[in-house]
Amino acid sequence: THFGFKTVKERDKSKEVYSVFEKVADSYDVMNDAMSFGVHRIWKDLFIQELSPLHGCKLLDTAGGTGDITFRYLNYLNNLENKKKIKSYVTVSDINQNMLDVGQSRAKKLGFTPENGYNIDWLQSDAENLSCPDESYTAYTIAFGIRNVTHIDKVLSEAYRVLQPGGRFLCLELYDQYSFQMIPVMGKLIAGQWEPYQYLVESIRKFPKQDELKGMIENAGFRQVTYKNLTFGVVAIHSGFKI
Ligand code: SAM
Repeated sequence: THFGFKTVKERDKSKEVYSVFEKVADSYDVMNDAMSFGVHRIWKDLFIQELSPLHGCKLLDTAGGTGDITFRYLNYLNNLENKKKIKSYVTVSDINQNMLDVGQSRAKKLGFTPENGYNIDWLQSDAENLSCPDESYTAYTIAFGIRNVTHIDKVLSEAYRVLQPGGRFLCLELYDQYSFQMIPVMGKLIAGQWEPYQYLVESIRKFPKQDELKGMIENAGFRQVTYKNLTFGVVAIHSGFKI
């Protein structure tokens, strides 16, 4: 046990994760800023720069939560020089409908609406078993999400399945053990809840290191698999291609 709470070894991880994000959906964005001192915004911007999407991109943003990666992707496309636009697509998928609901209201506030020409597809789906056809996307992102899943290998093989040949897999994840200790403390202070955040800490402790994850991505069939550490390895971006 850690701090007197049960470890999650024997529990059904996906159910637990579902209820955690159900409880934290409303405070999620505030927590992100508080816990990373706003740095998660920089990491996410670097992540989109790494993707460097072009018009015509079909992105699946899994574990997309409240839409942070998707909104950055849309802004990036808006800022591209070439205005002769080929239509781009984006699907935000998440296992938790509450997170997607928050995302949809954020999209409205930010003006990413059908009236303004944005058709974001919001899809409630488990990353381990995606309800998307084979070879339907040119890019797949998972940001701060792969740690929360029960079977990483299933997520990776699903990513491989839904990508078109030539498609790119990108994963952004947190690795710093020390910062995890702060999560339940901040959760209690900001959102008034300790236990859901304690659970998150339990799940993130057991995650493979950068090199091991690289091997798993290769085992799923991806080629040219690389990773880049950001902020001295606090987070890393893994990349792979379906060739
Ligand atoms: N990508 C967003 C971001 O960077 O702000 C959200 C990250 S949030 C820390 C993790 C998300 O993963 C939550 O929205 C949670 O519901 C989702 N999630 C957890 N397990 C999942 C699964 N098996 N399939 C899809 N989404 C999952």
